[in-house]
Amino acid sequence: MTKWKLKRKVCRGCHRRLPIAQYYKEQGAKTGYKARCKDCLRVSRRKRIRDTLNPLIAEHNADPSKNRIPPDCIPYSYKQCSACGRILPAKNDEYFPLTGPPTNRKLGTRCRNCRNAYMRQYRKLHALKQPDPIVEATLADNIGKSGYDSTGRPY
Ligand SMILES: [Zn+2]
Ligand SMILES: [Zn+2]
Repeated sequence: MTKWKLKRKVCRGCHRRLPIAQYYKEQGAKTGYKARCKDCLRVSRRKRIRDTLNPLIAEHNADPSKNRIPPDCIPYSYKQCSACGRILPAKNDEYFPLTGPPTNRKLGTRCRNCRNAYMRQYRKLHALKQPDPIVEATLADNIGKSGYDSTGRPY
């Protein structure tokens, strides 16, 4: 057996004759490398996601209560919103990052939509400043007593 080093290889996907660095290694393969080049594998992965995963996710997100994709089947690099149940890419465009070291910043559990809705609701509740019943009763009790004004507050 002559010892030769594979320098180039024809890709089974795109039929280009590419330098061996353009292929991923594969143990057990005759050449020691994948039959298809890195570009082809990337494209087919993207195609798989586009053709198989995206319609499934769209179907799930149309009505998350049907649990078309159960929580333990959520694909890698996706994340389910804890509020609306939609499955969205685990990216900053979809989930706000929480504080933490930039290299390991976790994403919030609610999607941006739900988080924004929650914050709007939260701000509304706090802007209303619900009157405290005990304070109100004390003030009412004070009205008319000497040293208190007409709202029940001391002079
Ligand atoms: Zn190729
Ligand atoms: Zn959500």
